Amino acid sequence: MQPQIVLLKEGTDTSQGKPQLVSNINACQMIVDAVRTTLGPRGMDKLIVNAQGKATISNDGATIMKLLEIIHPAAKTLVDIAKSQDAEVGDGTTSVVLLAGEFLKQVKPFVEEGVHPRIIIKAIRKALQLCMDKINEMAVHIEKQSKEEQRSLLEKCAATAMSSKLIHQQKDFFAHIVVDAVLSLDELLPLNMIGIKKVTGGSLEESQLVSGVAFKKTFSYAGFEMAPKSYEPCKIALLNIELELKAERDNAEVRVDNVREYQKIVDAEWQILYNKLAKIVDSGANVVLSKLAIGDVATQYFADRDIFCAGRVPEEDLKRTMKACGGAVMTTANDIKAEVLGLCETFKEVQVGGERFNLFQGCPNAKTSTLILRGGAEQFLEETERSLHDAIMIVRRTIKHDSVVAGGGAIEMELSRLLRDYSRTIAGKEQLLIAAIAKGLEIIPRQLCDNAGFDATNILNKLRQKHSQGGQWYGVDITKEDISDNFEQCVWEPSIIKINALTAAAEAACMVLSVDETIKSPKAGEAPMAGGMGRGMGRPM
Ligand code: ADP
Ligand code: MG
Repeated sequence: MQPQIVLLKEGTDTSQGKPQLVSNINACQMIVDAVRTTLGPRGMDKLIVNAQGKATISNDGATIMKLLEIIHPAAKTLVDIAKSQDAEVGDGTTSVVLLAGEFLKQVKPFVEEGVHPRIIIKAIRKALQLCMDKINEMAVHIEKQSKEEQRSLLEKCAATAMSSKLIHQQKDFFAHIVVDAVLSLDELLPLNMIGIKKVTGGSLEESQLVSGVAFKKTFSYAGFEMAPKSYEPCKIALLNIELELKAERDNAEVRVDNVREYQKIVDAEWQILYNKLAKIVDSGANVVLSKLAIGDVATQYFADRDIFCAGRVPEEDLKRTMKACGGAVMTTANDIKAEVLGLCETFKEVQVGGERFNLFQGCPNAKTSTLILRGGAEQFLEETERSLHDAIMIVRRTIKHDSVVAGGGAIEMELSRLLRDYSRTIAGKEQLLIAAIAKGLEIIPRQLCDNAGFDATNILNKLRQKHSQGGQWYGVDITKEDISDNFEQCVWEPSIIKINALTAAAEAACMVLSVDETIKSPKAGEAPMAGGMGRGMGRPM
């Protein structure tokens, strides 16, 4: 009899081999099914309620994937690629998940038949290489010669990014705003210099772009009403100091035996505050912003001296003001001098809907702008913000790499044709694998049709025919249930989205394919599983 060798702790969950691989692919398929219907201009939205009962309505692949709280280890790779796509280019997050899932689905029969995963991976890499070369060759470069041309290119890309979102009806309006916002930035196009503020109420068209920093008026005490609400020019003191009367007797035990002693303590507390205030006033500032509270005494003190003040300013707003207007955030009142004050041309307090907004314009140091969004429900505004984020990212990307391709499945169909043609020229297993990947690419136009309720088979046949006849920009026409030259229709997307999405999808597919064993340690306190059958239900080989 052979002695049994125990390698792993009792209760360790292992599963390996082909069944494991197939089960991983199946898990990825389930994720894809969850986001499938959100793709494209006619895609549906998802309403996700988390454990705290917070509801989110979204059409954005990355947001949905993040909220799904996926625990399957292999399926998590798809969440990661959606996130990375979001961080890299900001759009195309649903597409990337769909592509990765579809590549896996198409090669699954080969895995089941026993083709070695390494061969499949090699074929995927080869196909990817061909696609990259083709995209780079096809992409249309728009020279940055004239400002108007660049502008209209950017607006078209922004509009395409937004056409699949809740705000697609106002996409032209927002495309204009988004391009304005991004063009107002300086060379490096820092994303955090575009602030987005949401004010519920009003209609989407009342949204506006403010050049400069704007933020909601913070809570303020009586006395505030007396302070002036506009300055020209304006000197800003940025503080991280509490300007409130601190009653030390609340925090510490103070023993006194007569009233006079007690009075001295109270006086000292007032004196500390007044010293701080006097130093701030001496610096010459006419607007005081603090991250911490500004109390009633301080508010009144400043108002008496014609100084505007706001306490509890959110940190990001304070930082943006600092970057835009210069100066430094001070943590003590001792060093406040004219040099550490921020400067800007105008400061105003204005009414936006039911809110008061503080507006700093004409900031000398950095270029910044703030989008004030208006609209009905809170969730709607949140989704609007996410959609605008996509559009802003797309515009930034397009400025950096000024080449575009046609969307609506046009580029995918062309790549699919290329791979199919290529596969006919080679022999062996690779031929079938490359043809499978070519089929996988068709998922994008197919899903666009499915989501719009079109006859996908019919449209795909028409597209295949057009592409084999050289109509390289033909894609799905979402308005007429037909095909059209999407380059002429101005459904433009930066080529970088497609390059990134395909690379990430291929890499994720390769990663899932290269895993053939999962070993899961038992959780502390968890009973060992009976039979030791793996989670992926793989048989030990
Ligand atoms: P993602 O998260 O991947 O960006 P979207 O829901 O934004 O997903 O859908 C993007 C897809 O919709 C792209 O393939 C794009 O080409 C396509 N698309 C966008 N606008 C149009 C349009 N007007 N006509 C046809 N297809 C479009
Ligand atoms: Mg999109």
